[in-house]
Amino acid sequence: MARRETSVAGPGSRALIVDVIRSTISISRVELAERTGLTQPSISNIVRDLIADRVIYETGSADSARGKPRKLLAITPANRFGIGFHLGPDTLNCVAIDLTGGVVGREVVPFDGVDLAARLAERFGDFVDDLDLPRDRIEGLAIVAATARPGAEADAPHWAAVRAALADRLRIPVIVENDAAAAGLGEFWSRRVPREQAFGSVYLSTGIGAGLVFGGALFRGASFDAGELGHLSIAYDGRPCPCGNKGCVERYASMEATVDAAREAGLTVDQKTISSAYDAVAHAAVGGDPRAYAVVDQAAGYLSLAVTSMVNLLDLGRVVLTGPGVAVAGSIYARRLRAHLARTAHARHRHEISVELSAQPRDAAGIGAAALVVQASIAPGHTVPAT
Ligand SMILES: [Zn+2]
Repeated sequence: MARRETSVAGPGSRALIVDVIRSTISISRVELAERTGLTQPSISNIVRDLIADRVIYETGSADSARGKPRKLLAITPANRFGIGFHLGPDTLNCVAIDLTGGVVGREVVPFDGVDLAARLAERFGDFVDDLDLPRDRIEGLAIVAATARPGAEADAPHWAAVRAALADRLRIPVIVENDAAAAGLGEFWSRRVPREQAFGSVYLSTGIGAGLVFGGALFRGASFDAGELGHLSIAYDGRPCPCGNKGCVERYASMEATVDAAREAGLTVDQKTISSAYDAVAHAAVGGDPRAYAVVDQAAGYLSLAVTSMVNLLDLGRVVLTGPGVAVAGSIYARRLRAHLARTAHARHRHEISVELSAQPRDAAGIGAAALVVQASIAPGHTVPAT
């Protein structure tokens, strides 16, 4: 699929070339010119700079029809690193990835959010020291967390101040982003999704969010609030939501809603936290308990309605289900969504809409955070820090 946006190198050309090399694993300069529409001299100049910066390297050769072997280019894996921290209600999930999106370190620690910037800075130091990562090869830190729910903004940390304090202490770029959006970018990066593919991810957790990646860039909307899939209504006069709307899918298919539905169905769910209670229901569902299966399958049906609307609105070609809500019973959600899209997706006769499950759903937001750092570093122009 050639993407002929321009034949003249511009500010986005470096990001374009990095994106194409990333998504193809390895590619020759000639194929790069064909895929990007850039001229051979432009390709040569940018590739030379990228090799000098050690973002890419020459890896072997491919046979050419005209005899002379073509050198192949690939992203340099273990050269630089992005660090992502996913702040949950009482834990911090710390992830380090290399430039290809490969996870080189991961740790989950209890975390209460008191004195946030100082604690995060301390944790950053411990995490990179434990992994023995050279500081000069760390491209930055991204902190991701659920956006404050409507009506609950006062509970949210003052992110602009946290970001400024961290950047000042650590002397590296610091990005702050919504967890669902970050997870989408992480899946995009580690799955090597080509930038011409309209890509979306669904992050199922205590809330429901989406990550949307168009042209290689995370779509953020007017105020970094794009992807509030949980507040897409699936019922005109449905359950009231704190956001002010009625019938929001989050009231029917979030982890909490599913736990409530399980209790209403007569299942004994006595775990203290939403996460552990939800996991118990999900384990029962995949373990053959018919009532638990019916509860999760119904939640998956509700979610499929909302995701299909999102797919139709944006004409997505590929959707990944991710987040802690699909860690145990993801196959039930994927099966429901595939069946619903096959019957009702508007573009189903024009192109395939693939539904995939995340390989690391519980770590997806942390991996995505680290991917934001890597993208901002080697394919700049896509990432605008949310402050
Ligand atoms: Zn709502």
